[in-house]
Amino acid sequence: LGLPLALEADTGKLFPASNRARDVRDALVGHARALGAQFQFNVSLTGLEPAADGWTAHTTRGPIQASRVVLATGGLSVPATGSDGGGLRIAESLGHRVHAVYPALTPLLSDPPGHASLSGVSLHVRLRARAGTRVVETSGGFLFTHRGYSGPSVLDISHVFVRNRDASIRVQWSRLNALEWQAVLARAGGLVMSTMSAHLPQRLVAQLMAEVGVPAERRAADLRRVERIGLIAGLTSYPLPATGDEGFKKAEVTGGGVALEDVDAKTLASRKHPGLFVCGEILDAFGPIGGHNFAWAWATGRLAGTAAAAH
Ligand SMILES: Cc1cc2nc3c(=O)[nH]c(=O)nc-3n(C[C@H](O)[C@H](O)[C@H](O)COP(=O)(O)OP(=O)(O)OC[C@H]3O[C@@H](n4cnc5c(N)ncnc54)[C@H](O)[C@@H]3O)c2cc1C
Repeated sequence: LGLPLALEADTGKLFPASNRARDVRDALVGHARALGAQFQFNVSLTGLEPAADGWTAHTTRGPIQASRVVLATGGLSVPATGSDGGGLRIAESLGHRVHAVYPALTPLLSDPPGHASLSGVSLHVRLRARAGTRVVETSGGFLFTHRGYSGPSVLDISHVFVRNRDASIRVQWSRLNALEWQAVLARAGGLVMSTMSAHLPQRLVAQLMAEVGVPAERRAADLRRVERIGLIAGLTSYPLPATGDEGFKKAEVTGGGVALEDVDAKTLASRKHPGLFVCGEILDAFGPIGGHNFAWAWATGRLAGTAAAAH
């Protein structure tokens, strides 16, 4: 596409040198137009009907005849972008199995918002979500919000909680595990507060100490056994009191969707109708934060487009 890229050294990710998403979009649209693609904006697909020589695509601006169709209408995430799930209903009406959809990669809520006073505090954590025998672990950025919790690590495990409200979420607030904290506290000379604040934001330290009932002026050498045990548990296996989630309104991706079994993995052709291809987020697949969902959308889009052209 000729778009200058810049490498982000610490993540190894490539971004447009201009740092503007719009430039990527414009380059793609320009390339597609140069190859003869025509765009129609502010038109909704309302139905797809098999026709004698292909398909009739019913739209809010009348029918369009097509020899092949690629259905790439996304999921339900952030409805303001036009993703209202209409494509899923169309796929279902054509006989495809559509697995129940749910918001994935969405912030979590806490009601009452017990950590609202920490809103704006961010740190690197390790999270473990457990629902029955299913355990998902991740580490990364964590952000306290006015209403709950966000940041890449929270988004990554959110789907476990979204699908099972009984899921437990445990937080290790720093890179130190229980044994390492034990050693740090054992050799610390000064206040517990200062020792912990060397590894964690001070506002979080104050909150954790208050929750465990350790006085702010406690010196590490005077830490009682029960306080030490409580602190180390709070530091390394803190039960996150999530009670809800932000739903599709803020979800970066949609879980569920058109069953992968209903498309040919090599071409993404529908197994229900010839001349129909399905790609992107409408399919029942999603990945963690970090570009995997773009990669899925782009790779499957390319595959479906190439296969449709060859059909
Ligand atoms: C806020 C946000 C941030 C994200 N950040 C990242 C990130 O950093 N990295 C990453 O990998 N992924 C990210 N994602 C996820 C990624 O954007 C999506 O997974 C990806 O765009 C899905 O591509 P898609 O083409 O399948 O669907 P979409 O991008 O959703 O495109 C579907 C298009 O179809 C249109 N449409 C829907 N229904 C109809 C209809 N009936 N008629 C006509 N048009 C219709 C929609 O308007 C939309 O333009 C983010 C998502 C959001 C919402």
